[in-house]
Amino acid sequence: MNATMMPYPLTLTHILERSGKLFPKTAIVSRMPDRSLQRHTYDDFYRHARALAEGLIRLGLVRGDRVATLMLNHYFHLGAYFGIPAAGGVVHTLNLRLAPMDLSFIENHAGDRFLTVDDVLLPLYEKMRAGTKFERVIVVPLTGQPVAKEFVDCEALLRESVNDLTYPDLDEREGAAMCYTSGTTGVPKGVLYSHRALVLHSLAMLFADCAALAERDVILPVVPMFHANAWGLPFAAPLVGARLVFPGPHLDPESLLDLAEQERVTIAAGVPTVMMGIADAVEKYAGRWKLLPGLRLMVGGAAPPEALIRRLDKHGIRLVHAWGMTEATPLATWCNPMPQMECWDADAKYEVRSRQGRPLPFVDLRGVGAEGEVPWDGKTPGELQLRGPWIASSYFNSPDEQSKWSDDGWFRTGDVATIDPDGYVRIRDRSKDIIKSGGEWISSVDLENALMAHPAVAEAAVIAVFHPKWQERPLAVVVLREGVTATAQELRELLADRFARWQIPNAFVFVQEIPHTSTGKMFKAQLRERFKDLSADAESHFACRCLDTMA
Ligand code: AMP
Repeated sequence: MNATMMPYPLTLTHILERSGKLFPKTAIVSRMPDRSLQRHTYDDFYRHARALAEGLIRLGLVRGDRVATLMLNHYFHLGAYFGIPAAGGVVHTLNLRLAPMDLSFIENHAGDRFLTVDDVLLPLYEKMRAGTKFERVIVVPLTGQPVAKEFVDCEALLRESVNDLTYPDLDEREGAAMCYTSGTTGVPKGVLYSHRALVLHSLAMLFADCAALAERDVILPVVPMFHANAWGLPFAAPLVGARLVFPGPHLDPESLLDLAEQERVTIAAGVPTVMMGIADAVEKYAGRWKLLPGLRLMVGGAAPPEALIRRLDKHGIRLVHAWGMTEATPLATWCNPMPQMECWDADAKYEVRSRQGRPLPFVDLRGVGAEGEVPWDGKTPGELQLRGPWIASSYFNSPDEQSKWSDDGWFRTGDVATIDPDGYVRIRDRSKDIIKSGGEWISSVDLENALMAHPAVAEAAVIAVFHPKWQERPLAVVVLREGVTATAQELRELLADRFARWQIPNAFVFVQEIPHTSTGKMFKAQLRERFKDLSADAESHFACRCLDTMA
């Protein structure tokens, strides 16, 4: 065969170099824990990421090593997103909201050698520390307090670098980033993202019918950077030279709106719970914020209610809807109405905008039902399956976890959807037994196993019920053994050791019996139907405030 093009690898180091050369003066703004704003430029970022890479190599990092981050959304986390892969390592973002036991499981499973942690998050590190095997812990002194001798001071590490980094000869298929997701069997699963996947995913985000990110944009990633590559923004923004504005730990709607106004944000990204808070605030304090006309809120992680899209429109804020998964880097579909829909009436247009959208270029999708592939008729539901260059082909170090891939190589999402003739996906249901509350997963199987360890519990089912703020909250349905008793408080205390506070069901319902299917599985669909009206009384049943206070 004749030679074609150069075998130039698609790697993150190209994005890093490009940002340093082309956009050196562009700003990166971070709100710090003390609420002050720190301003850096892409030139600072370029030097910082390279100095971090040098420092990690001095500490002994070798190709493929995983370096965990326990960090908020700010400039230093962006530095880790690039500095670790630039050294040949894999940046492994740890979810700050998980229980310490889950975090140490994940760290062990990933085999992380190093940890980079914000000093304000050291108390969380201390809780997981006993179960972890990090060789070195690098502390980012956000507060300016001295770093204890047992840790590596990140500032000092950077100062010792002399700008002599030579990038390793990276293969685009090598791992660059990693993120764990909640498994349906309760055990978290790791996804290892290649340089190539991250680069192609970033390019897809620039597509005009996707996020259409451009140099003129000012991007506010509210979605935590420990979630699936914070939806691609930290990689796509330096590629195009868009300004980045990071909220740090201040995720309440008023702080976010202040920041969006002050920094003239053009696009922010977060889960529906965050966007609902924003809608509430702009309605409550009408006219308080002078936001940029055409501000877009990219929403994903769960379906935004159509009413939310309508509410925000009234304030000139456009909610744009995307669907994806940790296993899909994460974006797979984006919802943009087609040009011919512009003349549709308002209700029809809102209906379209609340759909999950059409596949991004290079993402193949299909719905599969009991009889095989379902037609794209907008009516027949099937499990959504994906294929493409940024869709995972396996879980990290989990050779026995292949059931999520079909025999012909498609990824089985566990989401049940219809696809219409134009390719718009609408998620109808979820076949995976898992609960998503405020954008965070809660494993029903894990909760059930823990509850059934109580001597008084004969059987327990944990199901999702609707909640107006968190979208879903767990409800425990419990059958007690004859002659013994347990209270909801006792069960709550039992779970408190093992689960994060927000993962614990707020309501426990005691029943005589749990219905079963013909194959002996708990018939959760019936339970969900039976208890669906609990949502009417949601606030008293689920007075869950803990997510509000989470970092
Ligand atoms: P994660 O891996 O944590 O990003 O979660 C991915 C899952 O979240 C998907 O499989 C869906 O169940 C759900 N999800 C993500 N985005 C949406 C959306 N826009 N609408 C409905 N569900 C969503």
